[in-house]
Amino acid sequence: MPSSALSIPSVKISSRGASRLKNGHVWVYRSDVLSAAAVSSGSVVGVQDERGKFVGTALYSSASQIAVRMISREAVKDFPELLRRRIADAVAYRELVVRETDAYRLIFSEGDFLPGLIVDRYNDIVSLQILTQAMDADAVSEVLISELSNHLHPASMVERVDQKIRQLEQLPARASGLLLGDKTSTIFQMNGVRFHFDALAGQKTGAFLDQRENYAAAAQYGHGEALDVFCYQGGFALYLAPRCKQVTAVDSSRPALEVADKNAELNRASFAGKEIEWVEANAFDLLKDYAAAGRQYDTVVLDPPAFAKTKSDLRSALRGYKELNLRALKMLRPGGLLVTCSCSYHVGQADFLEMLAEAARDAHRTLRLVEVRGQSRDHPVLLNVPETGYLKCVIAHVNY
Ligand code: SAH
Repeated sequence: MPSSALSIPSVKISSRGASRLKNGHVWVYRSDVLSAAAVSSGSVVGVQDERGKFVGTALYSSASQIAVRMISREAVKDFPELLRRRIADAVAYRELVVRETDAYRLIFSEGDFLPGLIVDRYNDIVSLQILTQAMDADAVSEVLISELSNHLHPASMVERVDQKIRQLEQLPARASGLLLGDKTSTIFQMNGVRFHFDALAGQKTGAFLDQRENYAAAAQYGHGEALDVFCYQGGFALYLAPRCKQVTAVDSSRPALEVADKNAELNRASFAGKEIEWVEANAFDLLKDYAAAGRQYDTVVLDPPAFAKTKSDLRSALRGYKELNLRALKMLRPGGLLVTCSCSYHVGQADFLEMLAEAARDAHRTLRLVEVRGQSRDHPVLLNVPETGYLKCVIAHVNY
């Protein structure tokens, strides 16, 4: 064993676990951990294969099924130093790929080689989420606060807590709150469209930054009468309003629609006198009612919540997606545009396209693929870690 690896505890993994790592993945499941004696929860560990050969450094969780998340192929002597380097790399990568926005994901967990850590920037507020035991350490938050302050000079930093994740990781309950400064709301912009941000409210860390580039793509082709289904705080609808004759947007969440309406107010100057119609309803019921009433549209956006939370949900999720897409296709006029999304990792791109093909067949429509898209580039996908890519966004043109 290299002397540098002696200073940290080690975990021995099975040959199946080791070959997974060799194939470029970064996770080892608990069933592939052979021994983790004297390793405390959330430790930085040296990882050894069955024969005791050192294969890299990882973060260990005593609770998660994903027991080991690799952070380096090398022996890491100074984790805070590695964190600082990874944060600087994440900043540099965003300088390369992020354009026309002051809101983006700065650190995307495994996608930035910092498993268990999410950092989003919304203009002058930084919002972070801790998803694993190792990232919950005080030493980690100290480095985060100082490094993110150096790089971004935010007015404030907040931690958004997902209680369910803390429970799963067996971490003590904690409330969301400010880590630095006292500002909790701001206005951010993506491709010139402005949004209200409330750091301690809303879903995810506040907005769906992963759709940012898809908003711009949808705006490029959207036309005529548009329907944005599952609109949340107005993401797609606000982009469609300047281009379309009329926009109706639907969500079941009243708080989300209230923010959406305020967002419309912020962007009204670009709407050329048009109003977005916000409808609070269950999307499935509403699509049924609108279809029965013979409503027709030229642009339909479908961006539902994840239907498949686990692999075993796949079949029922595909049925749900098909029902939605079928209804949307029946309401689209010839020449219309369908923007259809899925954020379920377990529904792969091939599954999603196959579902859409079936929906098109059943709706007696011919679909042209205009664009097959994924998540914004600030949510980097690691080629050998398929779990890092989860969002699908297909833009299709409806023919006869
Ligand atoms: N398109 C949005 C994100 C949508 S997230 C954007 O780009 O910002 C999914 C949304 O679906 C959430 O706002 C949630 O409130 C809503 N939702 C969940 N179930 C619903 C249902 N049955 N009917 C209507 N909306 C629903």
